[in-house]
Amino acid sequence: RSGADPLLTVEQALMQFGGLKALNEVDLAVRPGTIHGLIGPNGSGKSTMMNVLTGIYKPTAGSVTLAAGTDAAKRLDGRTPSEIALSGVARTFQNVQLFREMTALENVLVGLHHSFQGTLFDAILGTPRRRREEREARARAMAILDFVGLGPLAQVEARNLPYGKQRLLEIGRALALDPVLLLLDEPAAGLTAPDIAELTVIIRKIRDAGITVILIEHHMDVVMGLCDRVSVLDFGHKISEGGAREVQSDPKVIEAYLGS
Ligand code: ADP
Ligand code: MG
Repeated sequence: RSGADPLLTVEQALMQFGGLKALNEVDLAVRPGTIHGLIGPNGSGKSTMMNVLTGIYKPTAGSVTLAAGTDAAKRLDGRTPSEIALSGVARTFQNVQLFREMTALENVLVGLHHSFQGTLFDAILGTPRRRREEREARARAMAILDFVGLGPLAQVEARNLPYGKQRLLEIGRALALDPVLLLLDEPAAGLTAPDIAELTVIIRKIRDAGITVILIEHHMDVVMGLCDRVSVLDFGHKISEGGAREVQSDPKVIEAYLGS
């Protein structure tokens, strides 16, 4: 497979809610190893696209195809969220969704759960297999926390972490799925400038680790600084696409934002 082939291909995605077309025949091609921005005014369909990509919504029409590694391309539309997650597509949500009473480490361990085979018996009886798997899982979870800069906070309950750290923990939990594609829905929303700077470094590290990223973001400086390519939605239509600078100066994009 050549590097130019898209990792993710969306063809003619239509998502209809009653009379509203939240996505109106949207095509998207996300190249492997890139950070692909998805921008647009409020209500333009960005989160709907995330939900279609991750199986929370089943598109009214159109297709979503993932071509990961040497495996045959796989249709994602029509699959359940957990099937899609196991295919290597992980996400964070626009609003933080963590297990608030669990520690940072435990939140990541929950994300890792899928990759360990131990049965309930193993868990209850504390078999050697279980103990070995638990050690491995903790080591991996710690490595992930270190990667997102939360190593020193591993034992802090999620609800006691500052908001910016909670957002990083969500990303860590998504990384525990060992994804090929990571979808981030407004990860910088509500963050302070130093938090945004830290987040930016981590998103770039994720891309450099070979994970393709789709980034929904309102902060234009973040989009400009990070995205290799940007697609712009407005009222469910894709109105522009290209390099970050190119898209920013597109009159259609400027008009869409001024009208919002
Ligand atoms: P964005 O994330 O770009 O702000 P959304 O994708 O959340 O926009 O919403 C796009 C449009 O689809 C909005 O008009 C929203 O009200 C509508 N919409 C999203 N989800 C649903 C739903 N489950 N039922 C009805 N309408 C929805
Ligand atoms: Mg949204």
